Amino acid sequence: MITATKQQIIDHGMDYLSKLGVEVICQVCILNGGSCCKGCIHLKDRSGCQLRNISCTGWLCGFQQYIFHEMGLLEQWNTFWQDIPGQDFRQDFTPPEVKIEGWMDPPDARIRSVTSAFAKDLHEQTAQKKLGLPQLNDKLFSSMDKITFYKDSELIRYTIKKQKILMKDFQHFKVAKLNYDNFLMKEGE
Ligand code: SF4
Ligand code: SF4
Repeated sequence: MITATKQQIIDHGMDYLSKLGVEVICQVCILNGGSCCKGCIHLKDRSGCQLRNISCTGWLCGFQQYIFHEMGLLEQWNTFWQDIPGQDFRQDFTPPEVKIEGWMDPPDARIRSVTSAFAKDLHEQTAQKKLGLPQLNDKLFSSMDKITFYKDSELIRYTIKKQKILMKDFQHFKVAKLNYDNFLMKEGE
């Protein structure tokens, strides 16, 4: 176990998200009325969040959970954050110092290309009015919840099948993920 300050934990989470390039998805999301910060008292126009906390850093929206799951990062992420005490809605009661098992391994920087491809799909699908962005985010959030917490493997299989249908038009994402998987395979040879 190691001791980490609350600020170190927040920085670690923000650094991880930044390495994945999730901000490109947030840009598309915010432009299309899907921001998760909407209505928060800590949100300042044009300056963003004024009180970054543990809870909002560890929380992943549906889009992010889906990408983390597809890229094999979700389990590590959830395990790290579930051990951090004091999480609440848009605030935390985390003590200034916390004992943690260790830090998360940094994600492969090449995953940024997969994240960007997802943002491109999201932008195109929204522009073509094929989907309501907040509704898609909610659906992914709900299906990821089931995939993460269901114990019944048949129900998990059924949810993944439905999720595949939901995401069938995310072609840039699929190609980028395939390329990334091929890089990894070649490296392992
Ligand atoms: S809902 Fe997700 S994609 Fe949208 S702003 Fe929040 S974290 Fe970013
Ligand atoms: S506290 Fe959370 S919900 Fe509020 S602006 Fe900051 S990140 Fe967004």
